Amino acid sequence: MSNKQTAAPSANELLKQGSPTLAGTIAQTLADPQADRFSDDDNQFLKFHGIYQQDDRDLRKTGKKFIMMVRVRMPGGVLTPAQYLDLDRLSSEYGNDTLRITSRQALQFHGVVKSRLARTVKGINDTLLTTIAACGDVVRNVMAPPYPGTDGNGAVREQVLASALKLSKDLAPTTPAYPEIWLEGQPLELGTGRPVGDFSDPLYGKTYLPRKFKIGIAIPPHNEVDVFTHCLGLVAIVENGVLAGYNLLVGGGMGRSHGNEETFPRLADVVGFLTPDQVDAAVRTTVTIHRDFGDRTNRKRARLKYVLADRGVDWFRAELEQRSGLKLGAARPFTFTHQGDRFGWHKQTDGNWFVGLCVETGRIKDTPARRIKAALREVVAEFKPEIRLTPGNNLILANIPSGQREAITAMLAKHGLPVENQGSAVRLGSMACVSLPTCGLGLAESERYLPGLITEIEGLFAEVGLENEEIIIRMTGCPNGCARPYMAEVGLVGKAPGKYQLYLGGNESSTRLNRLFLETVKDGEIVNELRPLLLRYKDGRLGGERFGDWVARVLWEKA
Ligand code: SF4
Repeated sequence: MSNKQTAAPSANELLKQGSPTLAGTIAQTLADPQADRFSDDDNQFLKFHGIYQQDDRDLRKTGKKFIMMVRVRMPGGVLTPAQYLDLDRLSSEYGNDTLRITSRQALQFHGVVKSRLARTVKGINDTLLTTIAACGDVVRNVMAPPYPGTDGNGAVREQVLASALKLSKDLAPTTPAYPEIWLEGQPLELGTGRPVGDFSDPLYGKTYLPRKFKIGIAIPPHNEVDVFTHCLGLVAIVENGVLAGYNLLVGGGMGRSHGNEETFPRLADVVGFLTPDQVDAAVRTTVTIHRDFGDRTNRKRARLKYVLADRGVDWFRAELEQRSGLKLGAARPFTFTHQGDRFGWHKQTDGNWFVGLCVETGRIKDTPARRIKAALREVVAEFKPEIRLTPGNNLILANIPSGQREAITAMLAKHGLPVENQGSAVRLGSMACVSLPTCGLGLAESERYLPGLITEIEGLFAEVGLENEEIIIRMTGCPNGCARPYMAEVGLVGKAPGKYQLYLGGNESSTRLNRLFLETVKDGEIVNELRPLLLRYKDGRLGGERFGDWVARVLWEKA
């Protein structure tokens, strides 16, 4: 590898060097009935297997209660009905009876105790899904537009989805430790009798990537995957109804650290145009560039975006072309007009229908008023629609014959889920990360806090005369930015319990980063901070100008 770094490798790099199969001592701990947790080292390896060891932070005062988060990788967020029903059952049997849709179209189990972990992962694999590479220093779940075609572009959408599936499969790590540990009866087989320590992944080598690697594909004009926020984005170029190829975007990313100016959110650069037959090689080569040039001494600056920030897009293009032998074309024009999910019934190009359902903060669970887990189980068992998870952590039931619409609408309503008027525009467009009580990095509430805050903001909108206003609000419990808060018109980033940074000024098409407006705002003061801004916006906006655009025009220009 050509990395010339001279500083000492980070602790994670040394761990990977010592156990390139990523096996660690996971199997031994699994087999030990006395152990209620994995070692800190194994916790790092577990991430590559799609598992985070956590503890319930609400219970810390009485001692740590270790639980696992298990993430299922599903490119493009697509599930068969049988797979969905299996995951629903597993979450009830082994987890906390909920499923969490992530902002990257994956599903998470929470609250899995160690003694149930192996059965959970085995059950996921039994339904032909996997958890490998759902987390870890590898290519994560590949995102793609979730909607079936509705406007004559169904074929292109299916082509794009097929590309996401292929990339995900081709870029998955090949460690034999995963089947050895999680799939009963499979021997650790390296094929040549080499010792396990000699294992080297054909793409990732012995030490994998310096950090995670995210890929997303978008089809303009809809930017629901937030394509500029990915390490690698592909923007489909459709000409005369045919997929001509993709513009390659490289070097985006959200995560940053409080108080560390060397870390920052970044929009991806547009590198050039790829024909469809060039995509696999270009993507694979980009992964190798991250592998070889990413910072392995400092995990806070180890993402590909910092390679681009330090070396520039021209350097990257030359490196890509030299390594791959490809010649990229000039990027082709594209325009995004909007992001966000679609709700209610929509007719597909093929004559079937899909229904978009709001899953507030992505948590599939039953409450007395809204039994979404029970509703989905009943509808999926009865009508067998395809399930698609959206980048806004909502859900689609797809490929539904027209004759089933009425019965499905009634079945959902019986459980408290209306298909029409599912919520205000601000609620439907909002996102929160998981944060407390399970995420170990959470500094402030997010998933548990945002729904109530949205209720207050709905009241504020009514008070200032902005009812039904659509303003994109995203909240995260820490600056890692899992819910992509730095793209929102209003972004709230946790700093400490009850305290957030306030960012303003993202746009509807998700092509612009917002900016820090307030370094600290207490949770009880968020509405009061927004009130004067919304009043000024209401009086001073130009025509249908959105809040984020008004912020950029009025507040930024005067900054
Ligand atoms: Fe956890 Fe931070 Fe991600 Fe929220 S943004 S889920 S607190 S890592």
